[in-house]
Amino acid sequence: MKILIVEDEEKIANSLKRGLEQESHVVDVAYDGEVGYDLASGENYDLIILDLMLPKIDGMTICKKLRQDDDVPSPILMLTARSSVEDRVKGLNIGADDYLPKPFSFEELLARVTALGRRPWEVAKDSVLKVGGLTLDKTTFEVTRGNKQIKLSRKEFTLLEYLMRNSGKIISKDTLMESVWEYEADILPNTVEVYIGYLRKKIDEPFKDQPRLIQTVRGFGYKLAVN
Ligand code: CA
Repeated sequence: MKILIVEDEEKIANSLKRGLEQESHVVDVAYDGEVGYDLASGENYDLIILDLMLPKIDGMTICKKLRQDDDVPSPILMLTARSSVEDRVKGLNIGADDYLPKPFSFEELLARVTALGRRPWEVAKDSVLKVGGLTLDKTTFEVTRGNKQIKLSRKEFTLLEYLMRNSGKIISKDTLMESVWEYEADILPNTVEVYIGYLRKKIDEPFKDQPRLIQTVRGFGYKLAVN
């Protein structure tokens, strides 16, 4: 899933991000309410993990705006340090799908994330991505083009998923470094290029009679598109 974490406590946000990435999710983080709201309303997330007490715009206001003004359908899991029933009820009433009182264990969070990800609309929308003849199935980790199976490493899979989820858009190297590699100490300036090269060898080069899907947009970055 593509997940947004809006949480101002950097330690919590970063460790959640790492944990969710290990579960093969693609994760963005916002450390204040303003950035969080901009991302949540501008991108398509499969799940938004939203802290209640945030600088600039608080979690309740963000939730309300997303549901009422922007029609954002992404499930929202609210994190709250408050344990009062009133806050939970209020959160659920303004459109949060679930809440998790702090402190919580990563296992508890993961259980909620998995449960929210299992919603029927979510499965249909999320588990199989298709661009042209290329198909990526998140539940089986299978990638095929035409009838041919393509074997990818975990990192190649995450990178391809990100490109397919954003197909047609130009994505900068910086965005890819941030989204697919953030917090990894061993990333080098050419790591993205190297991995794009690996993906091309597997999803484009063997299919010479078909359109090249991974395109370099000189000076800007990459895009995955049929034409
Ligand atoms: Ca907070």
